[in-house]
Amino acid sequence: MNPMTIFKGFLISVLFGATSVPPVNTAEKLKIASFSTVLTEIAQQVGANHVDVAGLVKPGQDPHEYQPTPSDLRQAAEANLILLSGKHLEHYLDKVQQATGAKAESLAVGDALPSLKMKADPDEVQAGPTAEQNGMIDDPHWWNSVVNVEKATTIVRDALIKLDPTDRADYEKNAKAYLAKLDALDAWAKRKVAELPRDKRKLVTSHDAFQYLAKDYGFKVYAIEGVGTETEPSNRHVAELIDEIKKQHVKAIFLENTLNPNVSTEIIKETGAKIGGSLFADGLGEGDGSTYEGMVRHNISTIVDALK
Ligand SMILES: [Zn+2]
Repeated sequence: MNPMTIFKGFLISVLFGATSVPPVNTAEKLKIASFSTVLTEIAQQVGANHVDVAGLVKPGQDPHEYQPTPSDLRQAAEANLILLSGKHLEHYLDKVQQATGAKAESLAVGDALPSLKMKADPDEVQAGPTAEQNGMIDDPHWWNSVVNVEKATTIVRDALIKLDPTDRADYEKNAKAYLAKLDALDAWAKRKVAELPRDKRKLVTSHDAFQYLAKDYGFKVYAIEGVGTETEPSNRHVAELIDEIKKQHVKAIFLENTLNPNVSTEIIKETGAKIGGSLFADGLGEGDGSTYEGMVRHNISTIVDALK
């Protein structure tokens, strides 16, 4: 036997070995459980016919208040991949971990994205693990930046490829198409915001959810509430905000129905600002907000048109 024959034999066994790895069953769809409405859309767009996505946090549901039901936990336990918003938004994570054990791969997508900091609610500071020493926490609302959603799309794409390498080409093609849409959306948002002079880019909202949007498009944010939707603003904070709105000549403010109506009535009475319309702060919702693109278009148009 000459050395070449030995080499060929070795090569054949290597190749054979490679093909004898049990193939991923591509006929069966990957099961994905998602705790974020935006990640649900991304997984559906990128995974298409290769995935079954259970959106456990539903459009319009407040993710700060959401608690998983026994059925949600069951679906998470059965999933091949669990998608989480991350940045400590899922305060019920221990329940998910308990229900799923180490079986399912869970991916806290937001944790891989850059963080803006925000002041924690006093409640959350006392709660401990989500708050840092100085009372600042990671702002969880990363999805209000289109650029962040683009990064999230590549993270989800790579996770799907890892679980199902056979369908890599499809995941890459779908992600590319979705990313192209997001690029166009970001370009549109920049053009729309350009209609508003820089000194008018002041965003007063009822809960502090738009820092990432503000950073992308050059707005300054004044929040009436904190990060979540459950705490009442203090009288002093409201008084300061009223002064700021008057001083900055802010024409419109943006409220959510979680805000105490007495507070919004007082602000409007004292400042003469009008209500600028409602925004989708916490992910997908109904109507315009039923797709990510629709949500961003609604938010940006509402803000720009009201502040002009
Ligand atoms: Zn929020």
